[in-house]
Order: sequence, then structure tokens, then C-alpha cells
Amino acid sequence: MKDQYGRTIDYMRISITDRCNLRCRYCMPDGVELVSMGEILTYEEIERICRAAALEGVQKFKITGGEPLVRKGCVDLVKRLKAIPGIDQVTLTTNGVLLGEYADELAEAGLDGINISLDSMDAARYQWITGRDELSRVLQGVETALTVGLKVKINVVLQKEVNESEWEALAELAKYRPVDVRFIEMMPIGYGKGLCPVYNEDILQTLREKYPQIEPDGRVHGNGPAQYYKIPGFQGSIGFISAIHGKFCGNCNRIRLTSQGELKPCLCYGESYDLREALRGGCTEITRNAADESCVLSDNGQICENDLKEIREILRKAITQKPKQHCFEQLQNITEDKRMVQIGG
Ligand code: SAM
Ligand code: SF4
Repeated sequence: MKDQYGRTIDYMRISITDRCNLRCRYCMPDGVELVSMGEILTYEEIERICRAAALEGVQKFKITGGEPLVRKGCVDLVKRLKAIPGIDQVTLTTNGVLLGEYADELAEAGLDGINISLDSMDAARYQWITGRDELSRVLQGVETALTVGLKVKINVVLQKEVNESEWEALAELAKYRPVDVRFIEMMPIGYGKGLCPVYNEDILQTLREKYPQIEPDGRVHGNGPAQYYKIPGFQGSIGFISAIHGKFCGNCNRIRLTSQGELKPCLCYGESYDLREALRGGCTEITRNAADESCVLSDNGQICENDLKEIREILRKAITQKPKQHCFEQLQNITEDKRMVQIGG
């Protein structure tokens, strides 16, 4: 479906949990309160929203969190989303800690690609950033993902005086392994507010000094706003998601579903549409063979034909109301006050 600015919205990010096995300082530091499981969408509710989204033209889903792999049944969700008519891609973003355990099953479930967040190659610094001593498990997870044939992208957030010196070690992951490495500018959302981002133009400049032959890579690498570069001799590419300086909103293709069922038209603003309320105010169970919008059972066993209709209406409204652009460069105008761990990045 197109929004009021003519952008095609065909991609939905779905946060399936606000739980995480790491405690990244900029996302979910120690002590953050969790919401009760009853407030989190069930997998059935997520699937129902996804079926409605597919009917509105969404073709790609990204499963995120919190840490999606800490929620039991995540692999099964991948299978269920892959089976929805009209869906051509399901990918997942993870911190990689549990990837060694699940990579095989995820590949078998048909996952189309995996983004692994990794901000440091130094064990002590990794632990300082994430609150946990898990670097070796993450690196093992990257290897297992590659071994089972998953397409891997590494997401890096650099901060001044924390891990900025690691630009080279992290970029070089793409030299020795067939992975794309993407630098994401820290966004002033949640605990990221007030932290010191490293700007992508500076990283690119530093890369140019080290690798003068770096050049733009015109190939399409994914669904997002990343701009890619190639370095001769590297197996993967280097990507830049310049949230602050690269106003990529003109090509924005996405909406976001939080773990509590809020549908967000834009990351920057607090405005959202309550799909959980819409779902729970009506039907609560879905029949496993309900392949279309007209065959859904309510909790009293009655067929509720309007179920997806209402969700579709909300989806249409959210897409239509999608703001023209974010305002990360004007901090006073950012109205989102949720944490990134609730939104899913
Ligand atoms: N736990 C998974 C992971 O770490 O990949 C998925 C959820 S996490 C919220 C998704 C991505 O958001 C991660 O790559 C993380 O680094 C990024 N992120 C979190 N807070 C951020 C912020 N304020 N600015 C930019 N990226 C952020
Ligand atoms: Fe967890 Fe990912 Fe947030 Fe780190 S960035 S705390 S791994 S959700």
C-alpha cells in the first residue's frame, strides 16, 4: 500500500518480546522494568496481524525484539510467517548469543537472512557495552549461521570514546567472512538519547584513508536505507545506515509493531495505533487453517468475519498517517519515549 507521500509500504518490523539476554547500555541497561507476559502479543495475535498486513501489501517481515531468540517458539513463528500468502521474505535481527543453538532450525524454517548485532571484537569492551561476557558465543553464532547457509549481516553501533577505535576490526569481518558489515548511527531514542554517536561520514572518510579503492556498491542488499560500499579483496560489503545525517525518509518502506501490539508509523514519534486492543476486544483464537480473512474463530467459537477487517483498517490508517520524515536532528521535536528494546530498532 502507498502512503500519502507516495511511498510503498511493504515491510513490517515485528518486535516479539521486550526480554533480552544482554543489557546493552544504549538499549536495555540493567534494572529496566519488563512488562507482564499478558501484555505481550501472543504468536497467534502476531500471525493474525501479519496476515492482515500481507493483505495490505506487506511482503517482508523482520522479526526483532528485545532478543527474539529468547522467546520460545520463535523458529515456529518464522515458519508460520513464511507460509502467509504474499510474503516473500522473513528475516531476523539477533544479538547472536543463542544463534549457535538455533541457526540450523532457522535455516530449515526458511529464514531469508539474519542481522547480528556486534559492537566490539574485544571481550572486555563487549562485556562493558552489553553487560554480559558473551563475545565468544556471538562469534561462534556467526560461524554457525554461515555454515548452515544463512545470509548474514553484522550491525555495528559505534560510540565516541567507547568503541569508535574498533571501526577497522569490525569492518574487517567483511574481509575475512562473506558478511556485510553495516554501521548504524546511534539514534536519540530511549537510552540512546544523550550518548555520543560516531557519524557515518567520519567512518567512511577514515575507511577511504585506509582503503583508497573503496567505491559505492550499486547492488541491492536488502530492504533498508543502508548505502553500501565495496572494498577490493573484501568478501562482503560495508553498509552505512545514517539515521541522523542521511535523511532517507523519502524511501522509507516500513511500519513497526511493538511487542505490546502498538503499530508505529515512524520510529521518531510516539504516535501509535493499538492493535492489541483491537484484537482482544474481539476475537482471541485463530484456527490454524484460517488462510484468509473470512475464517477466524472467536473465543466463544463463533466465526468472526470482521476480525481482520478491523485490523486492516487500522493498518491502512497508520500507513496513511505516516509522517513525511523523522526529526532526529531536532531533539526537542522527538516525541517517542519508549525504549528501543520495546520497539525493536
Ligand atoms: N536484540 C536484537 C539485536 O540486538 O540485534 C534485536 C533488537 S535490537 C533493539 C535491534 C538493533 O537496534 C540492534 O542492532 C541495536 O544495536 C540497535 N539499537 C538499539 N538502540 C539503538 C539506538 N539508540 N540507536 C541505534 N541503534 C540502536
Ligand atoms: Fe538486547 Fe538487542 Fe537491546 Fe542489546 S540491542 S539490549 S541485545 S535488544
